[in-house]
Amino acid sequence: MRVLLIGSGGREHALAWKIAASPLLTKLYASPGNPGIGREAELVKLDIADHSAVAAFCQEQKIDLVVVGPEGPLVAGIADDLRAWGIRVFGPSKAAARLEGSKGFTKDLCAKYDIPTAAYGRFGDLASAKAYVEKMGAPIVIKADGLAAGKGVTVAMTLEEALAALDACFDGSFGAAGAEVVVEEFLTGEEASFFCLCDGTTALPFGTAQDHKRVGEGDTGPNTGGMGAYSPAPVMTPEMVERTMREIIEPTMRGMAELGAPFAGVLFAGLMITDKGPKLIEYNTRFGDPECQVLMMRLKDDLLVLLNAAVDGQLAHSSARWRDEAALTVVMAARGYPGTPEKGSVIRGLDEAAADGAQIFHAGTAINGGALVANGGRVLNVTATGATVGEAQSQAYAALDRIDWPQGFCRRDIGWQAVARGKVGAS
Ligand code: AMP
Repeated sequence: MRVLLIGSGGREHALAWKIAASPLLTKLYASPGNPGIGREAELVKLDIADHSAVAAFCQEQKIDLVVVGPEGPLVAGIADDLRAWGIRVFGPSKAAARLEGSKGFTKDLCAKYDIPTAAYGRFGDLASAKAYVEKMGAPIVIKADGLAAGKGVTVAMTLEEALAALDACFDGSFGAAGAEVVVEEFLTGEEASFFCLCDGTTALPFGTAQDHKRVGEGDTGPNTGGMGAYSPAPVMTPEMVERTMREIIEPTMRGMAELGAPFAGVLFAGLMITDKGPKLIEYNTRFGDPECQVLMMRLKDDLLVLLNAAVDGQLAHSSARWRDEAALTVVMAARGYPGTPEKGSVIRGLDEAAADGAQIFHAGTAINGGALVANGGRVLNVTATGATVGEAQSQAYAALDRIDWPQGFCRRDIGWQAVARGKVGAS
């Protein structure tokens, strides 16, 4: 098969690595890719926002499957446009990607299909949003409706914070994404990420993970795209997975089909495991980054076979098998992140770091004058497996400590909750 992978982060490097291991693959292209992806794929420069240019490339190169990594192109309708040209795409339609692209859409779907989630209100103007927040009191959660690169959510512990967050949404801080807001009940519990591969009808459970969003150790400091993750999530016991499928995922699949927007692609449920059971915090319509990295390390099966089954509506006949080991990834970021990261510092020692079986996935890297340099906030994902989360953690940090990059930093406590539980990683 000839495959085009769209994206340039650590998530796409992990996907490229796993797709490249498939015996079905004859040629892998990636656009725009990064130097790590360039070891698995031929990188091509395409304007991803120009869907007809992407389609023309696919036709010229006889691409059999396009795999879309990030949410932006999906919400912009790349899957629909490529399909209209007869090109097979793994990823949801624009209408189905509303599960990620509009928080209000997802909340209304939950209300209609009785899917457990936080109580909420949707508002298109500041005055009525403020009145609702004042009535409900803090803690309370304010969310810009649209895509805001992970920055549109404020968990407000005080009324002042909540009102300031509403001001920020309506004064245009999040652009069009903030023209409407969702105000939500504050949920307590343990968070987990749950993934399914979907073909429009069937949702196939596709692993669990937990991530660390805060930049600082002990889960402190500003939010980031994610500083590390591990899989499986101990809180996602087989019983919790079964409840999540029955109470959240299956009604979502039914609801989307009834709306004429059947969901095909990766459905990534951000869950709060409360004392009443799993509640949906949000949906994403693609793999998590860095959750994808740990999932790919644990997946035993051929990813390309499963992606094909999803595209062909054949997931009812598929299964996904996982290694018993846990996997853990630590993000190395450039100094300054999540503010303005320093770019251009030279990174050395990656081959030595990977010598004991760790995978170093590239996120924000570039080649400059023959040297590998930092070129973004999150730069590397140092990923390892072990019999337990604790063992995977030791392996990942042992690898990371062999990387020669003084301008990089990481959290030293990725996986602490799972390690503290003392639970074995096998699911
Ligand atoms: P989201 O972008 O919707 O995943 O939100 C980012 C983070 O905000 C989540 O990972 C949670 O930690 C937190 N969060 C979102 N919604 C709620 C809620 N209703 N109650 C408590 N925390 C929340």
